[in-house]
Amino acid sequence: EQVDFISFFHQVIDRLEMNKPEHITFIREIPKNKYIVWIDKDKMTQVLDNIISNAVKYSPEGGIIRLKVEKKRNFLVISVQDQGIGIAYDKLEKIFERFYRADKARSRKLGGTGLGLAITKELVEAHHGKIWARSKEGKGTTILFTLPLISRKRRETR
Ligand code: ATP
Ligand code: MG
Repeated sequence: EQVDFISFFHQVIDRLEMNKPEHITFIREIPKNKYIVWIDKDKMTQVLDNIISNAVKYSPEGGIIRLKVEKKRNFLVISVQDQGIGIAYDKLEKIFERFYRADKARSRKLGGTGLGLAITKELVEAHHGKIWARSKEGKGTTILFTLPLISRKRRETR
């Protein structure tokens, strides 16, 4: 369905913010505009839940998580940046594979199946988006994905 991504994103963050550990801070860098996208709300909620819960899970005590939306040409770039342990450069691509977990010992302790990002990637691609990661070991990780905007032209012809 057609959704204003900005108000939808705020709603999802509001809910996650109520359940986050107290020592973690969310910072929103979200424009006030209306950006209409075509999404399955349940699936997009799952995408955001997965990415943001990873950011929380791998954040240090007192960490800041930056939630950002930027408009580029005809799409949005949504990003979630944390100050956590990070991911080694040669493992960045692998985190989107099924059952892949970057650090076996640490991952076991933190729990999970290693399916979160594989499912997330499938769901983003089903929305005609792309997903990728940037990271510096010891400094933090940013997960970014795109979503096409519904253009005015196309909306008028509906
Ligand atoms: P699940 O999500 O299924 O509960 P998981 O979180 O281990 O388990 P994914 O979400 O698919 O699995 O992530 C895969 C791996 O990528 C993680 O095990 C972790 O090693 C690494 N990873 C993902 N997000 C981050 C992050 N924000 N910071 C550091 N490492 C991360
Ligand atoms: Mg996960």
